[in-house]
Amino acid sequence: MAASTSQLLNLEGSNLLGTLNMVFGSPKSSPKLLSKAFRKRKKTTEDVPNRNGEREKLCLQDRHVTCRLHRDDLKTYVQLPKGVEENEWIATHTIKLYDNLQLITNCLTEYCTAENCPVMSGGQNLIFYWVSERNKKMRPTAPTYIEMVMSWTEKQIKDELVFPTKYGNQFPPTFKDTVRKMFRFFFHIIAHIYYSHFQDVINFELVPHLNTLFHHYVLFSQEFNLVEDKEMAPLETLINLLIGTN
Ligand SMILES: [Zn+2]
Repeated sequence: MAASTSQLLNLEGSNLLGTLNMVFGSPKSSPKLLSKAFRKRKKTTEDVPNRNGEREKLCLQDRHVTCRLHRDDLKTYVQLPKGVEENEWIATHTIKLYDNLQLITNCLTEYCTAENCPVMSGGQNLIFYWVSERNKKMRPTAPTYIEMVMSWTEKQIKDELVFPTKYGNQFPPTFKDTVRKMFRFFFHIIAHIYYSHFQDVINFELVPHLNTLFHHYVLFSQEFNLVEDKEMAPLETLINLLIGTN
C-alpha cells in the first residue's frame, strides 16, 4: 500500500521538508508575523557597480547567491525514496513548495502592488500573460497574477480528485500535467520576485529563504522533468550559480 500524502507529510521531521518547515515556520502563522517584524525595517539600496562599472544584478552577486538556509546536499533530498510512490512524493514536495512560496509572497504584498508592478514582469522585456479558461489572453498586474496562481493552485491541492489524500483514492492520469502547470506558474512568481523585488527580499532578510526555495524547486523539477529548460531560461545564470555553489 502506498503511503498517502498526509502520511508523508507527517514524516517530514527526518528530511529536507522538515528542515524547510522549521526554518520557514508554519505557513498559516508566519506571513503576518514576518510582515509585521519587517514592516519597520529601513529600506536600503544595495545596487553596486562591478569592476567594469556596470550594474550587476543583485541576486547574482556572490554574497547573495551563497546565502542558503543550510549546506546539505539538496539533491539527495529530492530523490524518490525506496517504497514511496512517485506521485505521492511529487505531491508532497509540490505542496511544500507552494506553502513556502506563499510565505515569501505574503511578505511582499506591501511592495508588490498594482502601482509598483502593473504587469507580471519576469526579466528584461519579459511579461507573463494569463490565459483564461476561455482561452482569452490577459495582462493582469503582478499582484493579481500571483493571487490567481495561488488561488488556482490551492484549489487543485484541496481537490481530492486531483491531489488525493484519502486511502483508496487514486491519482488521476492528468496529475503530472497539473503539477507541470503549477511549476510553470511557480517559476513565473519566483522570476518576478528575483527581478522586481530582490531589494525587498534583502531588506526582509529573506535571501536565504528565497535561494533555498528556488534551489529546491530547480532540483526537484530536474529530477522529475517537470519544467523544460527553456521555461527556466530567464534565470539560467542564477540557476547555474545556485547549483554550482552548493
Ligand atoms: Zn511585484
